[in-house]
Amino acid sequence: MGQGRGWEGAVLRLLRAKDFVFTVTDAEDVTPHYRRLRLDDGGMLAATGVHPTMWVRLWFDNAGRPHQRAYTLVDPDPAAGTLGLEFALHQGCASDWARTARPGDTIEATVQGTGFEHPDPAPSHVFAVGDPASLPAVNSLLGALGSAPATVWFEGALDGLPCHADPARHEVREVPRRDAGAHLAERVRAELPGLLGNTPDPYVWIACDAATTRTLSAYVRRELGVPRHRMHALGYWRAA
Ligand SMILES: Cc1cc2nc3c(=O)[nH]c(=O)nc-3n(C[C@H](O)[C@H](O)[C@H](O)COP(=O)(O)OP(=O)(O)OC[C@H]3O[C@@H](n4cnc5c(N)ncnc54)[C@H](O)[C@@H]3O)c2cc1C
Repeated sequence: MGQGRGWEGAVLRLLRAKDFVFTVTDAEDVTPHYRRLRLDDGGMLAATGVHPTMWVRLWFDNAGRPHQRAYTLVDPDPAAGTLGLEFALHQGCASDWARTARPGDTIEATVQGTGFEHPDPAPSHVFAVGDPASLPAVNSLLGALGSAPATVWFEGALDGLPCHADPARHEVREVPRRDAGAHLAERVRAELPGLLGNTPDPYVWIACDAATTRTLSAYVRRELGVPRHRMHALGYWRAA
């Protein structure tokens, strides 16, 4: 395993990445644009353990060349050796693979770069910014942060998507994707400062397209003065 992947594979091997083969056991179209797979983990979870928002690098085939993309684990079960993956479908190799994936299909996975630090002290309020690609991670985050209330700005329509927010304590604000994410950034700039003012121990988590994530992360850190250890920001995809 790990042969012939060019420099990306070589670098990951030097970083002591671990390779596993997942096997699809079940596939379900949740909506026409969102597909869920269940997979056997090839022994991964027993070897790596599990943490909130955990993700893996999956190796897709792009006309014979390796194409690596990150996906979040859904309901990983180390005892059973199973996990789910949820794909927000669009144009692209990873999406194309997911569209036709069926029981028996396999995909290689590398574990490198994923991690999670529980904010300490526990957040009195969570502020999350996400979209369909980061919905599995938002679900995992909200599950991991226990009883904290949350405000989630979700770029796109939740319609039919598996959002695990608990309406009793999580408020999800849907924001249409407009102007390459600029509309989302405007909404967060307009609404976050007032909410932050009443929050003693905030935790801010941002995962949308790379440029919008950068903009919002800089805004939250520099203009709102949220310390680095009270926030996490990672671009989940690159807009063309
Ligand atoms: C830590 C991490 C975890 C992630 N977890 C998930 C996950 O659980 N589920 C999931 O669906 N995605 C997830 N993503 C995002 C996923 O890795 C990217 O969307 C990836 O680019 C998809 O690869 P692709 O081969 O399908 O398309 P690419 O070849 O990367 O891109 C092809 C075209 O599609 C566009 N595009 C790419 N992604 C999106 C998108 N999300 N929405 C709209 N247009 C897009 C690009 O701009 C480009 O024009 C995660 C990303 C990170 C960094």
